[in-house]
Amino acid sequence: MAEVNINHVGKTFENKTEQTTYTVFEDIDLHVKSGEFVSLLGPSGCGKSTLLNIIAGLDQASSGTVLVGSKEVKGPGVDRGVVFQEAALMPWMTVLDNVMFGIKKRYSKEEARNKAIEYLKLVHLSKFIDSYPHELSGGMKQRVSIARALAMDPEVLLMDEPFGALDEQTRSMLHKEVQYIWEQTGKTIIFVTHNIRESILLSDRIVLMGVRPGGIINIFDVPLPRP
Ligand code: ADP
Ligand code: ADP
Repeated sequence: MAEVNINHVGKTFENKTEQTTYTVFEDIDLHVKSGEFVSLLGPSGCGKSTLLNIIAGLDQASSGTVLVGSKEVKGPGVDRGVVFQEAALMPWMTVLDNVMFGIKKRYSKEEARNKAIEYLKLVHLSKFIDSYPHELSGGMKQRVSIARALAMDPEVLLMDEPFGALDEQTRSMLHKEVQYIWEQTGKTIIFVTHNIRESILLSDRIVLMGVRPGGIINIFDVPLPRP
């Protein structure tokens, strides 16, 4: 677990062929406490994925810095596990091998296997470790992708519309799953969604992102009371 500090982060996309630029946001300051569950909520196109990708190190900020703990983000790293809308599992590998794949260089085969099994158990997929992705439902695939992200032992779990492609019933099952994971692991979670119910249900705090003319972001912080 670590805190995430986003300091004065801006992102401008440059289109070199048309010689135009588009500023998605400027000067975002966001401080996520260790173990906190924060949603980034806002309409499509406001820059949620862009911000999450910058935290993940998959995209570069045009200005500002992102710190995870005391370490500045320079690129992807094992301290940040990412879950996307599409699970993108490797279809020729079993569930277990998919989860082991990303960690096999860091651990012995035995350790990697044990870790993968531990996290597949956490997402209630113990019975499916030898199955192939095509044998699983959409919700189960997403649970594998969560186990894969957690097996890296990240400080922070980053989720980009992880349940956006799922039906309502599967989605509410996965909400329970995420709440359970958060209770069990105490991870810092940053969760991108455009679904207000989902953000209220899951998070400690909602960071509302909006767009103003010119593409500059408006950001509001909404803390939620917890029982
Ligand atoms: P959200 O996740 O909130 O839907 P995005 O972060 O995907 O928003 O996109 C924010 C804005 O940045 C959108 O207007 C989008 O078209 C633009 N954008 C995203 N990625 C790129 C890119 N690679 N090049 C140019 N513009 C981009
Ligand atoms: P979502 O709404 O699910 O976040 P988008 O459809 O906005 O996804 O974007 C999908 C991909 O296309 C992302 O990788 C994003 O960076 C890229 N993208 C989005 N808008 C643009 C754009 N205007 N120019 C180039 N790439 C873009």
